Amino acid sequence: MTTAESTPELLAQWDRQYIWKPFTQMKEYAAGRQIIIDRGDGIYLYDIAGNRYIDGISSWWVNLHGHRHPVLGAALREQLDKVAHCALASLTHEPAIGLARELAAVLPPGLTRIFYSDNGSTAVEVALKMSFQYWRNLGRTDKRTFVSLANAYHGDTLGAVSVGGIEQYHALFKPLLFDTFRVPAPYCYRCPAGKRPETCRLECQQPLTDLLMEHADEICGIIVEPLVMAVAGMLVYPPAYLRRLRELADRYDVHLIADEVAVAFGRTGRMFACEHAGITPDLMCMAKGLTGGYLPLAVTAATDRIYEAFWGDYADGRTFFHGHSYTGNPLAAAIGRRNLEYFREAGIIAGLQPKVEYFQQQLQRFRELEHAGDVRGMGMIGAVEMVADRRCGEPYPADRRIGKLVADRCLETGAYLRPLGDVLYFIPPLCIENDQLDELFAIAFDAVRGVTEGREA
Ligand SMILES: *Cc1c(COP(=O)(O)O)cnc(C)c1O
Repeated sequence: MTTAESTPELLAQWDRQYIWKPFTQMKEYAAGRQIIIDRGDGIYLYDIAGNRYIDGISSWWVNLHGHRHPVLGAALREQLDKVAHCALASLTHEPAIGLARELAAVLPPGLTRIFYSDNGSTAVEVALKMSFQYWRNLGRTDKRTFVSLANAYHGDTLGAVSVGGIEQYHALFKPLLFDTFRVPAPYCYRCPAGKRPETCRLECQQPLTDLLMEHADEICGIIVEPLVMAVAGMLVYPPAYLRRLRELADRYDVHLIADEVAVAFGRTGRMFACEHAGITPDLMCMAKGLTGGYLPLAVTAATDRIYEAFWGDYADGRTFFHGHSYTGNPLAAAIGRRNLEYFREAGIIAGLQPKVEYFQQQLQRFRELEHAGDVRGMGMIGAVEMVADRRCGEPYPADRRIGKLVADRCLETGAYLRPLGDVLYFIPPLCIENDQLDELFAIAFDAVRGVTEGREA
């Protein structure tokens, strides 16, 4: 069973034999080629045969400063020599304290309390439960559900799925979920109100306004992915929409829960997406980039107003009974703290601005493609929605697997990309250089043209 005796063929065989992959039809995967990654360096991943792949999606949106980053690696090694794990209940430790302080200093003003968990889904579960219990602690037992957006994605655990709206992933589990109110998503390319960006007056928010007028008494909060609905296909919507959500939440006395799991830590060009709208949510979820792609860690940040509703004598029954074995793990927290220090000391956000401009400008090149229905982006996020007919935006039939074919071709030509349906997107490590971005876009451009126009690269 040692890897010393393992050949690439054996590893591939054992991989197929033992591992059940996430979001994967295993029959399809097993029939394909197993790409066994050996190491990473900067924006690149290398397989055991020595092939190099640009990590165009930051290893599922988590990596920020590149693989094998010396600063983050050192933070991990340092902490390893102290303690790998201890519980955060009854005890505390410097990495968790340091990271909480670093976060409080950069979060939208008013978000002061840091609750740790392990991943994006748990950060969302925590936010939902906190919001729910907040109203209970105030005696508002009528408030018992949430408003979520069509096409939303907040994770794969059942609470997170309840506020999700991706048919393909979520519909099947409906009998297991709690009911929520669902309102249309700001999908500007396929505007639910039939408007164009030039004529948009946020008409798509009318159903939400109507809903709140009638049902605010039953609603704990509105959960939303700020500015970019990522899993839905990198749907980018204007900050004015988010500002209006904040106003509506205030007017109707419901929480605004910002799920920044995908967009926090520079992805949109600012530290947090909420900054573009100048708003502070009542609760904010973070995970993916928190440790720069090193270890699982998540945070749900809350305002003092929420925190104080849980404060009291034990007998008052206001305690938040929630936690995970690895809550605030010291190794992960140490890297998270160093990650935020690095943002500050290296001036990452300021340095990002010219790169963002270049990224968004080069992305426009995809408009030349016959089957690029929409090209959209924000910050260091970009997406190309591939369609059968771009005059009317008609999608490809799902069984053509256009996205999958493009992804396969990109892997052959040196880029790791994983389209969402037929939306090819880019969310590379923030550290990507302009010439590396050129290379990534060139590979993707050729792959899309090859697949959608039946041309060879
Ligand atoms: C990825 C994601 C989650 C879930 O995070 P996991 O760490 O995969 O559980 C939640 N919300 C958003 C917006 C995400 O993109």
